[in-house]
Amino acid sequence: MMALNGEKLLARLPKPRGRIEANAPLADLTWFRVGGPAEVLFTPADEADLAEMLKGTPEDIPVYVIGVGSNLLVRDGGVPGMVIRLGKGFGEVTVEPGHRIRTGTAVPDVRVARFALDHSIGGLTFLRGIPGTIGGALRMNGGAYGRETKDVLLEARAVDRRGSLHVLSNTDMQYTYRHCGAPEDFIFTQALLQGEAGDKEDIARAMNDVTERREATQPIKSRTGGSTFKNPPGHKSWQLIDQAGLRGFSIGPAKVSELHCNFLINEGGATAAQIEELGETIRQRVKKTSGIELDWEIKRIGIPAEGA
Ligand SMILES: Cc1cc2nc3c(=O)[nH]c(=O)nc-3n(C[C@H](O)[C@H](O)[C@H](O)COP(=O)(O)OP(=O)(O)OC[C@H]3O[C@@H](n4cnc5c(N)ncnc54)[C@H](O)[C@@H]3O)c2cc1C
Repeated sequence: MMALNGEKLLARLPKPRGRIEANAPLADLTWFRVGGPAEVLFTPADEADLAEMLKGTPEDIPVYVIGVGSNLLVRDGGVPGMVIRLGKGFGEVTVEPGHRIRTGTAVPDVRVARFALDHSIGGLTFLRGIPGTIGGALRMNGGAYGRETKDVLLEARAVDRRGSLHVLSNTDMQYTYRHCGAPEDFIFTQALLQGEAGDKEDIARAMNDVTERREATQPIKSRTGGSTFKNPPGHKSWQLIDQAGLRGFSIGPAKVSELHCNFLINEGGATAAQIEELGETIRQRVKKTSGIELDWEIKRIGIPAEGA
């Protein structure tokens, strides 16, 4: 089993302007509140700091970027290499002519939705219900209620593993359902979103609708990772899980939500291993009852705990 050694790794990395920490706990940076530490956690000061760090990071060191961890399961043994979390330096939102919004990728989706409301820009209301960052939305093609990121993205900026800058068009992102085909090492730093002329009252009403629908149908105040599995073509994952008799099914404190079967919940004290085992059990049972294979939507990163 691979042991993490944050101090040793830190010694091999350049000194950034931003914050860098060895053996940094990640659990509290995710919605599930589980998992081990990052061998090194880096919070760049800005895009140039991020690029410099990546340029100077030896190629054998794995790098992984996280947002606010609303679609993420960090395994109990932690994450080898450098985890990057974008902060304030990626937090600016501005309006541009033609109902466009330019936003840093650390900005929560909900803040962009509110900003659009303040500027009477329609078409971005769906972001109100997604509890991640714009970076997460770009990578996951986040969407809700019939709209997704692909419908509103004009342009994204990214830094690659070697520290080079790229500007991507919507086509370059190669979007499909909950998937972005841009190179996996690209860390998105900024997005330009296309809204439309809107009426403030209509937008406010639509946003309230989203909030009410969410509260009624999803366990949004729980420790969860949102939709666990992608919807297979022509099916709803929650229905397949329900039909397999798994509503409320649990492994220790890891439980299938009673409210929404495609949400897994940490009821308190669950390990990442229990949550992942619950997910894998669901996949097996659904395959048995329906013949359909469920695909994880949640990203699972890191290594199991030693001895697990
Ligand atoms: C209660 C709840 C409800 C949800 N409802 C929805 C919904 O309606 N629709 C929906 O689509 N999702 C939903 N989700 C899932 C989740 O909010 C989205 O996938 C969101 O886009 C993830 O953003 P994040 O910042 O939390 O990313 P994380 O979970 O931290 O990371 C997710 C992925 O994005 C990548 N990533 C993050 N930032 C960057 C970046 N700057 N550059 C490159 N890659 C990056 C990570 O590497 C990882 O692969 C829900 C989750 C919860 C907990």
